Amino acid sequence: MMFGAIHIYEAKEPLLKPKEKVRLMATGEKRKLVVYNAPVIEIDHEERILQKLKIKLGPDPLSSEWNKAKGIENILSRPEQEIGVALLDQFVIAGVGNILRNEILFRAKVHPERPVASLSIQEIERIVNYAERLSRGFLDYYKLQGMGIRDLLFVYNRFSGFCNVCGHPIKFYMQKPINRKTFVCEGCKNSILLMLQDVMCSMNFSGVYCSIPLAW
Ligand SMILES: [Zn+2]
Repeated sequence: MMFGAIHIYEAKEPLLKPKEKVRLMATGEKRKLVVYNAPVIEIDHEERILQKLKIKLGPDPLSSEWNKAKGIENILSRPEQEIGVALLDQFVIAGVGNILRNEILFRAKVHPERPVASLSIQEIERIVNYAERLSRGFLDYYKLQGMGIRDLLFVYNRFSGFCNVCGHPIKFYMQKPINRKTFVCEGCKNSILLMLQDVMCSMNFSGVYCSIPLAW
């Protein structure tokens, strides 16, 4: 699980966070690297760490080796975990950070606090499909076209905003135990759009995710 933060400071610069939260500090001549709040810190040779990560990390939507079935399998292997928590685990799907997590679940119309065991296979497929599409979309906007990703955000950081789909207020809270910013629309479950999406999924229409413009 990805917790904590890494800061790099000038050698004599004061720390921005309290000393009690420091888990590792590496000081060089000019700069120091500080790791805060990480539950586990592993120090090893770079190649060995990369090899271990490659074996353990979930499938990467941006990789040519992307494996949607493995992403679904990894989610299903955590039946008691809330989907909003599971999605941040890099061993489920690699590269999903907090912004993506919020946007994926909003578009898939799945509440982040629902346990994985309560999700239908259609809902899990929607989540994994959006993980792939949004990962590629963010990369395309942010890195390839040099544009900000604000236009792609339907819920993230929309404090006091309203849902683009149903007009319901966007709810903001910190999801436990990960303590991450979470934005949800609790009005979308009754939307006609969602019902249409579910009917089409249950009838195995291929390409359904592309056929609903609001779901991007
Ligand atoms: Zn809504």
